[in-house]
Amino acid sequence: MLDLTYETPKPRVIAGAKHDWELVIGMEVHAQVASKAKLFSGASTEFGAEPNSNVAFIDAAMPGMLPVINEFCVEQAVRTGLGLKARINLKSAFDRKNYFYPDLPQGYQISQLYEPLVGEGEILVDMEPGVARRVRIERIHMEQDAGKSIHDMDPAMSFVDLNRTGVCLMEIVSRPDIRGPEEAAAYVTKLRQILRYLGTCDGNMQNGNLRADVNVSVCRPGDYERYQESQDFSHLGTRCEIKNMNSMRFIQQAIDYEARRQIALLESGGEVVQETRLYDPDRSETRSMRSKEEAHDYRYFPDPDLLPLEIEQDWVDGIAASLPELPDAKKARFVTDYGVTEYDASVLTADRDLAAYFEASVGGGDGKKTANWVINEVLGRANKAELAPQDIAAPEVNAAILAMVAADEISTKIAKDVLEIHIETGDAPGKIVTERGLKQVTDTGAIEEAVDKIIADNPAQVEKAKQNPKLAGWFVGQVMKATGGKANPKAVNQIVGAKLGL
Ligand code: ADP
Ligand code: MG
Repeated sequence: MLDLTYETPKPRVIAGAKHDWELVIGMEVHAQVASKAKLFSGASTEFGAEPNSNVAFIDAAMPGMLPVINEFCVEQAVRTGLGLKARINLKSAFDRKNYFYPDLPQGYQISQLYEPLVGEGEILVDMEPGVARRVRIERIHMEQDAGKSIHDMDPAMSFVDLNRTGVCLMEIVSRPDIRGPEEAAAYVTKLRQILRYLGTCDGNMQNGNLRADVNVSVCRPGDYERYQESQDFSHLGTRCEIKNMNSMRFIQQAIDYEARRQIALLESGGEVVQETRLYDPDRSETRSMRSKEEAHDYRYFPDPDLLPLEIEQDWVDGIAASLPELPDAKKARFVTDYGVTEYDASVLTADRDLAAYFEASVGGGDGKKTANWVINEVLGRANKAELAPQDIAAPEVNAAILAMVAADEISTKIAKDVLEIHIETGDAPGKIVTERGLKQVTDTGAIEEAVDKIIADNPAQVEKAKQNPKLAGWFVGQVMKATGGKANPKAVNQIVGAKLGL
């Protein structure tokens, strides 16, 4: 297993501040469940459909309609809980969160406040190779998403699209264990990675599949440790919540701005007021949206239309047995099984498809060499062309090229040429090498011939090389050129050395 260290971060020194301050961050991530139908209706969840085309009577809150829970959504939330090593509550319940908004026809959102489906869990957040920080998960509950108000289509009117109304969200709430902007982004990255491994959420942040409310406060050194020991929140500073962040970069910028704002306020004798703020990326600042006094009073109460949700331990165990290998385990296995560095292992396990692609590319070959090949040659080209690695070369193509390198049939330089030709023509590597005569010349006779010719043609260079053996490299280069890069470099080196008497 990997040797992970769980470090407590050092206090941040914020330029311009009179004192040292520490940041404390807790996240509420809304992750849309990857299901075809909504949480309480059979309407489709398809993104980008014609407005108001995926709306069942219950989503539009027609009188007399009753919610029927989507078992698949519950299963995905349980799966997510298990993936985050969390406690699954066999009994949970749904509550109504009441508020009035045009995109919420029911006048309430069905959510889980008092008895969530999933309890405490954890995420190991990767900071740098060998360093991970544990962030505790407080709970995961299921809830309905709201619809969408559209204000920019008409100067005088607003429109409403109810396609998203009633889509199942998992709200994943962390403890305030995140200690800086980079860690916050790393947390969302890791959570997104796990969700995608589990297949429970697509994690498409641009489409709003995954969005985060970021709670930020600041405290003086020592206060966080006092909170940790007692779990008493009064040791922490007052927090502000920045709503609806859907970009890793903006999350970091918003936290950075918010921390500075709070510190400046506190150091000038002011007080942080608990409130909801919005981040404006154009101005790189957060702005107040509503203060606690104006905060909604949601008047939560148990939803009388829904029975408490009771699930069986056997069912949960069945889901647990079907979990895939998750990123931490896969990364550790790649390090032990393939001898790759932890950094390479994290690149290769960034997503499940890439990890599978790498393993298929290894075939029976050398793991470390395959890792270098996939990362440097395939991913390099794929990223540049904005293609999937599979579209650059199938795993079998990588395996075939690397097998030829291992058998000394082609040099690593020619291997790259073969890959380029394959990308252009789609031809199999073996065919490319045979048809274009790219096989490495290991026949020492042929190499000797080439070396002899170059020595004979360049007597002056020979004299120089005898004085300065480093110049032998020039001869090696000439031989490689003369053989179109096909000569076995090891053999060329040896023969050049011997012939020059070095
Ligand atoms: P709500 O926002 O609905 O009132 P909570 O009070 O449970 O819910 O807190 C929401 C989030 O705020 C959680 O992620 C929690 O970890 C985080 N949080 C609570 N107190 C602080 C604090 N002092 N600083 C930063 N984050 C905090
Ligand atoms: Mg909140």
